[in-house]
Amino acid sequence: AKAPMRVAVTGAAGQIGYSLLFRIANGDVLGKDQPVILQLLEIPDEKAQKALQGVMMELEDCAFPLLVGMTAHSDPMTAFKDIDIAFLVGARPRGPGMERKDLLAANAQIFTAQGKALNAVAKRTVKVLVVGNPANTNAYIAMKSAPDLPAKNFTAMLRLDHNRALSQLAAKMGKPVGDIEKLVVWGNHSPTMYPDHRFATVGGESVKALINDPVWNKEVHIPTVGKRGAAIIEARGLSSAASAANAAIDHMHDWVLGTNGKWVTMGVPSNGEYGIPKDVIYGFPVTCENGEYKIVEGLEIDEFSRERMDHTLNELLEEQAGVKHLLS
Ligand code: NDP
Repeated sequence: AKAPMRVAVTGAAGQIGYSLLFRIANGDVLGKDQPVILQLLEIPDEKAQKALQGVMMELEDCAFPLLVGMTAHSDPMTAFKDIDIAFLVGARPRGPGMERKDLLAANAQIFTAQGKALNAVAKRTVKVLVVGNPANTNAYIAMKSAPDLPAKNFTAMLRLDHNRALSQLAAKMGKPVGDIEKLVVWGNHSPTMYPDHRFATVGGESVKALINDPVWNKEVHIPTVGKRGAAIIEARGLSSAASAANAAIDHMHDWVLGTNGKWVTMGVPSNGEYGIPKDVIYGFPVTCENGEYKIVEGLEIDEFSRERMDHTLNELLEEQAGVKHLLS
């Protein structure tokens, strides 16, 4: 049998955690032959820790054969000990009257501490996915706070945006969603992201040629994907949680187990690809093989796309500038 892998999840008693943990324990991320140990982090607050105990009771009651161990933590230094995988879900939500810079500062504190803890105690090969918003900048902060770990270990979730765009395109064309390949979502996980289907195919045919509607792209598709999170809050009265957890699972599954040549979108630190400055955590098309992702290079960027890609980049650069003084 395989040795168990250690998986840390932060914000484990939250909404997304509730949709995520059971699927990790069921083998949906690492495979149906891979035992896992869950190391769950919540804030020290008594209510949060008690809620976490409740979630752990339910995990026990599922009797998942692959779940061979589980611990609760309030300190990242113990939660991240020897981990192979980290899902950083917990983040400080925007409160009433809270300004963007306060939100950035509150999260900078959380992700500096977590980056340092990863640096100190996680496996050197740890794969980190940041879900908690502002996800790209939180991933950047954690990466910069972990100088002894490879920068490439730090990623942010763009997969929900990718999956949302796939479903919008499939519905528009009346084609099966699973047949669409080569979609890209560039940039920040925020309404400025740029879903780009210029290279996409469905059953081998060009999606752009099939849809052939630049006005729909600009005025319906791009804004619909960008504002989907808000539309779900409006309809459900709660933010998207199951679909966010599902996207986190897709992201980590593909990173660990590979994509067989298919493109997926991941927020990863740039090495200067497509003119994005080094270390900016930006949504890029990638393929994954043997536990490593690789940015798809050499795609042609037209004027419309360049403008969108720079717009979302500028937002990321502003976020970075907003936390610069908090990083030592
Ligand atoms: P959720 O589980 O719903 O969301 C967690 C984070 O994911 C938020 O930052 C949220 O951002 C983000 N997110 C990213 N993509 C999406 C998406 N598509 N839809 C919805 N959310 C998305 O929040 P809860 O409040 O239910 O739970 C958070 C938990 O984290 C709490 O239990 C809290 O105690 C804990 N926490 C833990 C910390 C730690 O472990 N150190 C630190 C801080 C909090 P957004 O707010 O923008 O929607």
